[in-house]
Amino acid sequence: MNSNLKKTCKPSYGAKGAYRVDNLSRQDILANVKRVLIKIGTGVLSGKDGLALNIIEQLVDDIAQLTKSGYQIVIVSSGAIASGMHRMGVKAYRNTLMKSIPQKQAAAAVGQGRLMRVYSNAFGKHDLIVAQVLLTMSDLTDRKRFLNVRNTISTLMEWGVIPIINENDTVSVDEIKFGDNDNLAAMTANIIGAHLLINLTNTKGLYDRNPTGSEKARLIPLVKDITDEIEAAATAESDPVGMGGMKSKVMAAKKVAAFGIPYIVAHGKTKGILQDIFAGKETGTLFLPANEHMKSRKYWIAFTLETRGKLFIDDGAKKAIIHQGKSLLPSGIIKVEGVFYEGDAVTCVDMETAVLAKGLVNYSSSDIDKIKGLKTSQIKQMLGNKSYDEIIHRDNMVVSKKIKV
Ligand code: GLU
Repeated sequence: MNSNLKKTCKPSYGAKGAYRVDNLSRQDILANVKRVLIKIGTGVLSGKDGLALNIIEQLVDDIAQLTKSGYQIVIVSSGAIASGMHRMGVKAYRNTLMKSIPQKQAAAAVGQGRLMRVYSNAFGKHDLIVAQVLLTMSDLTDRKRFLNVRNTISTLMEWGVIPIINENDTVSVDEIKFGDNDNLAAMTANIIGAHLLINLTNTKGLYDRNPTGSEKARLIPLVKDITDEIEAAATAESDPVGMGGMKSKVMAAKKVAAFGIPYIVAHGKTKGILQDIFAGKETGTLFLPANEHMKSRKYWIAFTLETRGKLFIDDGAKKAIIHQGKSLLPSGIIKVEGVFYEGDAVTCVDMETAVLAKGLVNYSSSDIDKIKGLKTSQIKQMLGNKSYDEIIHRDNMVVSKKIKV
């Protein structure tokens, strides 16, 4: 570990969100960072011969140094499936017979322990203890479990232990899968209240076009706003052992930007990459957080909860929600789609099905069907009782183009 990192690592954690972000330099951002989530992708951690031990040791050395300089580091690590596949004598899984979900889950079961052993040994050399945390989407969509996960991780951080998080691949099937660890890292950044998310991957950052096969491709060092062009620049391709590709990194960037967290995508195999990042060097792509970011609970509604149905609303309700900061009342609802219950998340759409908001309903779909178009004073008469005036209270609603549908 060189001494540069030591010199530049002076965490001076300030109030998050107390600054305007569009003119922030990397130095400004780093001055406000103490808790950092580092996501390490499969393409970084593994090579032709399974886990790339030299790369892992190199990264662990740097992370250990950061920890000793006062940063709180949480890792989201991929590599379980790749490691398990290799252990079972298979190389890149896209090209093999190991394609089915149960095979990948079984490979993860073989590889996860091995992955943790490698981390544990590498951090052990620095007298640091690691903890394995395996999560599924359903752990986070339930608010209670979400908070439990948060308590566990913060206790580990208080103890000075490095939490190493991965998706619980052995139990995750389609509907409970995060999809990939880029998404998992975005969710986790919200859980732990990270001040910075670093995504270490196998490209140098986001390019203006797919760099594979295009010499004209240019690295984009700074993204202030995730526009349609930025989304179009990101492709879904990934290497044979990775899952997400750049597309999922940009999707994740949208989420972390909405939560007010700066996000850097950088090349994990470059020696000293973390030192460069913490020295404020312009490496990789920095996505700035949104100026107006969401509070944890609203973020949870917008990005974590599954959408269970749709409420079609009229122009009056649309205006009230978008321009007047109001709640959604029964009178503005024209049509209900889907079967859902009190407390579920639904989207509000206009008659052209453009998504306007997402929120938690106070009534089930069948009750809303009965009271749609009515005044609040008529709810009791129609349903026999009235618990709320609002179908979705403003406090439980996110109005944004960036919500997950
Ligand atoms: N959870 C998977 C693993 O550990 C990786 C998912 C991903 O690469 O995004 O192998």
